[in-house]
This record gives sequence, structure tokens and C-alpha cells, in this order.
Amino acid sequence: YRCLDCFGNYILCPSCIKRAHLPYGDPFHRIEKLIRVANNESYFERSALSDPEIGGALYCGHGGKPCPFHSHQQSSIVRILDANGIFIYRVFQCICAPLDYPNGIPLAIQFLQMALFPATYEKVQTAFTFKVLKLAQLHRFSGKESVWDFYTVMRRWTNNIDPKAVPDLYPQFRKVLQLWGTIRLVKRSGYLELAVARGGLVVRCPTCPTPGMNIPDDWKNDPLARLKYSCMMSIDGNFHLQRNNKGVRKDFPLTGNAGFWVDDGELAEYIDGKGARAARSSCHSFKAGDPSRWVQKSGKAVSGVVMVSCARHSFIQPNGTVDLDKGER
Ligand SMILES: [Zn+2]
Ligand SMILES: [Zn+2]
Ligand SMILES: [Zn+2]
Ligand SMILES: [Zn+2]
Repeated sequence: YRCLDCFGNYILCPSCIKRAHLPYGDPFHRIEKLIRVANNESYFERSALSDPEIGGALYCGHGGKPCPFHSHQQSSIVRILDANGIFIYRVFQCICAPLDYPNGIPLAIQFLQMALFPATYEKVQTAFTFKVLKLAQLHRFSGKESVWDFYTVMRRWTNNIDPKAVPDLYPQFRKVLQLWGTIRLVKRSGYLELAVARGGLVVRCPTCPTPGMNIPDDWKNDPLARLKYSCMMSIDGNFHLQRNNKGVRKDFPLTGNAGFWVDDGELAEYIDGKGARAARSSCHSFKAGDPSRWVQKSGKAVSGVVMVSCARHSFIQPNGTVDLDKGER
């Protein structure tokens, strides 16, 4: 066997190549097997550390070694997406019951302890390494690369001859990446759980006068208060930022009111309260003037975005952004 990712391109026996990667090396290396044929000729064939001859498997807990109580019932075949491609491993659970988990450590937590983000909480069959999630996020933010493009590269990196033979983890990857990004965002904002205060994920403008932050406590008594301590806000819309209606029903925000956007339900309530929602035309023949038809006809779920930022420093305000669903309403 030889490893395509370890330095040196050395050809090793099954037990040496296993020892070079498991339990303390990188199990997400691509392995090839030397096949000898007649006339002293040979070639390399695609293989894996989980090949029965090598016998590589992942063990939760116990520093990568098997749980002393492990049995084959507590294992499952898991498809893992790493920055180095897609790998399939048998993962053995730890079935110990430490003091803080008297009923055993939940499987998802065992995966997270190994820096693997599971796609489901129980009966995990798909997982993503923290490394690939971080890499995909950097590609998204730095290269404006879509998740689909990133995943296509990962699939072709795994098997460029027949990418369709690679397991399709894209639907799970999309959702896990979104969730992972949100969890990190919430963590970075100093919260321990997903219940974040209104606007709690937004960096406030440090220069605009904000009571209790950067102006004197008795600012109201200053005769020039209106001049010195007023904020200038600017509102601007972009009507090219449209989203097509793809019929996605369960597309709900993970952060609600905590970020830049206003929660969808709250916005609908506000518009209804203002009486701004146009009524359906009751005229049988005059359909062109029916505003509810505009969105249906254009096939747009969102027809533009309006943002409020402080005029001097361009800090976007918490809950200062809304989606428009009909023209400039
Ligand atoms: Zn290697
Ligand atoms: Zn050896
Ligand atoms: Zn154990
Ligand atoms: Zn400002």
C-alpha cells in the first residue's frame, strides 16, 4: 500500500500503513494498493484504510482506542466528508456511562468530541469534519463560492473519473454548514445557547452616540443634546437583490431577530398593522391592477432588500434590514 497524502510515497505493508494513520494520525488520507500481475508488472489500485486487509475503523472516546465494553452492535457505517474527500468508516461507539452521562454519552456528543459534526442526533450515518466546514465557510466568504461548487470539487477530489459513484452528501452538507456557522456565530457573540437577545449578534457602531455606552449619563441635561447626541441614519434599497420563488416551504431563519434582518412574522404583522397590504382586486376583468398577482407572475419570493445603516460610519443597524415582497412597498 501507499498513501497519496503522506510525505515520501513509501510502499508499506497493511499493518505499517494502518499504524501510520490510526489511531493517532489522519484517517482521512487516500490510500492505493499495489497489485502485482504476471510478467513482473504491477499497478496501483484505489483503496482505503477501511479496506478489510488494513482494518481501519474509528473508535469514539478512549483516545481513539476501542471502548473496553465495545461490541459490534454499537457500531455503524458512517460517511464522512473531510477536506480531503469523502470517506466511509465503521465507527464504534463508547458505551461507558460516566458520572455526567449516567445513560451513556449521546452519540452526537461522541462525534463532536472527535471534531466530527453529525448530520443527525441519533443513528448517525453522515458526518462532517470541522476542518471541511471551516474550509467551506472560508471559500464562501473569500471566494463567493456556492456550497454546491465547493461540494462538486470535494466529490471530484474523491473520484474524478466517476464523480457520480461518490455518495451524495450535498443535502446534509448544506444544512450542517448553515447550522455550524450559526453555532459559531452565537458562540463568538458570547452566548452559550441559541436563545440570543434581539440584535444580539450585530456589532454596534462604536462612534454613534449610544446611551450607556459612549456618551455621558446626564446627556439629556445638555442644552445642545439634540445637536451633539443625535444619530444620522440612512435608508437604502436594492431592488436587484431578488430571490426566485423555488417553492421552499420550511426555509426558516435560525437566528430570528438576533441579526440584521427583522423576523419574517414580525414584519408581516407590521405591514398588516399599517394597512399597507394591498387588497386583492375584486374586479373580474381588471386583473393587471391586482398587486398580489405581481409576485405570483414574476415568480419572485423577494423582490428587493432595504437596509438602515448609520449615515456617517455605514454600520448596518440591528434588525435594520427587510426583504421586500412587492416592488418598493
Ligand atoms: Zn497518509
Ligand atoms: Zn510493515
Ligand atoms: Zn467506553
Ligand atoms: Zn455610526
